[in-house]
Amino acid sequence: MTEPTIYELSSAGRTGVRFPEPDVPLTHLPQSLMREVLPLPELSEVDVIRHFTHLSSLNYCIDSGLYPLGSCTMKYNPKINEEIARLEGFAYTHPLQPESTIQGNLALMYDLQETLKEIAGFAAVTLQPAAGAQGEFTGVMIIRDYHRSRGDAKRTKILIPDSAHGTNPATSAMSGFEVVPLPSDARGNVDLAKLREVCDDTVAGLMLTNPNTLGLFDENVIEVINIVHQAGGLVYGDGANLNALLGIVRPGDLGIDIMHFNLHKTFSTPHGGGGPGSGPVGVSAHLADFLPTPLVGIVEKATADLPPLYGFIKPPKTIGRVKSFFGQFGMFVRAYTYIRMHGPEGLRKVSEYAVLNANYLLAKMGDVYHLPYKRTCMHEFVVEGCWPDIPEIHALDIAKRLMDYKFHPPTNYFPLIVHEALMIEPTETESKQSLDAFAEAMLAIAKEARETPELLKEAPHDTPIGRLDEVKAAKELVLCCWLPDDK
Ligand SMILES: *Cc1c(COP(=O)(O)O)cnc(C)c1O
Repeated sequence: MTEPTIYELSSAGRTGVRFPEPDVPLTHLPQSLMREVLPLPELSEVDVIRHFTHLSSLNYCIDSGLYPLGSCTMKYNPKINEEIARLEGFAYTHPLQPESTIQGNLALMYDLQETLKEIAGFAAVTLQPAAGAQGEFTGVMIIRDYHRSRGDAKRTKILIPDSAHGTNPATSAMSGFEVVPLPSDARGNVDLAKLREVCDDTVAGLMLTNPNTLGLFDENVIEVINIVHQAGGLVYGDGANLNALLGIVRPGDLGIDIMHFNLHKTFSTPHGGGGPGSGPVGVSAHLADFLPTPLVGIVEKATADLPPLYGFIKPPKTIGRVKSFFGQFGMFVRAYTYIRMHGPEGLRKVSEYAVLNANYLLAKMGDVYHLPYKRTCMHEFVVEGCWPDIPEIHALDIAKRLMDYKFHPPTNYFPLIVHEALMIEPTETESKQSLDAFAEAMLAIAKEARETPELLKEAPHDTPIGRLDEVKAAKELVLCCWLPDDK
């Protein structure tokens, strides 16, 4: 065969496996599928192991260091979660098994539904959505069907504060609603005067990220909710990131009608490249009938000798299914493990430490990086990554330089309402030492910005790939190691 040119490591004739002689008669396969003619790399086992081990170490991850990506809650993923998710009864069940054979799994799902209800103050929870954004879609469909079921057809608008997460307007628009932006006031809260002005009988609802993407808890949240309710609208709470609220505030108690949780943020299941998301949705009693089908319920109560029998139930006015089968079961096991390991007091501590850590970092950095809304933050905060006296330095330069200091950059250029935003969320799982090290790096970079700005402009210096042309990288994506002949 011809030597493949597309592999850097391949060496003709080298192999990592030897197949036994076939013990069945040979048949004819299409020539083009034969191993001999496919351009496969030829490598020994040790070549392959070294290659993939090397690749795995090129990626920054929460197991390698602090990952202060605001809004994304890159908290440590406890390894006990993985151990429990690998128990045979969880790992080897099949979604098409008869219900009688998966009673343990159903019990876990039922308990997780009940626990999330309790944590956030809702009457019912679906575990089905596979991401925060899909939870939002589910919630907005429920809002639509709720109004329709009352014969209220003219509600076509959803209000979105400018401090909302970007998925909120995207979800509303995708679901066929008109998005009405709401400005923030000088303290970073929803502007109440503006809210009153736009609230009328065409408003289907408001989507509220609280704490908002500035890391601020809306000081008038009850009033915001009341204004929307008085106009006949519903309030959707974006609970992707509950890291400031656990055991302290229950969104349902505030009057929020619907909310999604991100198990892959608040409840420590892996995300990013590490695993699928899970975005359960909780609703107040008046919306419980609209939840996606199926929910897990108790179909036969426990008796003196027998445990309850769990099964699937269909809410009477369900919006339908939003996901095949029952959602991301492996993530339910991990999140449930996390919740039970912490218990109610532990969860409250999670939030107390998340808020403490964010405010500690802010206190260390806030004199050097400009904080546009001067308030105590919740689990994250947003500073400006720029200074008026050195206009050539941008948030992007700071983010890239942080990589030289071996930290993952914070979220930048989001939220849009802060100029050159750097959105920092340390999470509760970082120690004082790692917070200090991060703050020192941020302060050192601020000094370099004035003294040796080229260090920022040329960063990162020792990552596998240097600074990319971000537009080109997005528009002309190259995902393989070889370029077609004409490039
Ligand atoms: C992450 C996040 C979302 C979206 O969640 P996905 O799982 O990424 O779809 C929505 N809102 C907020 C506030 C978030 O932080």
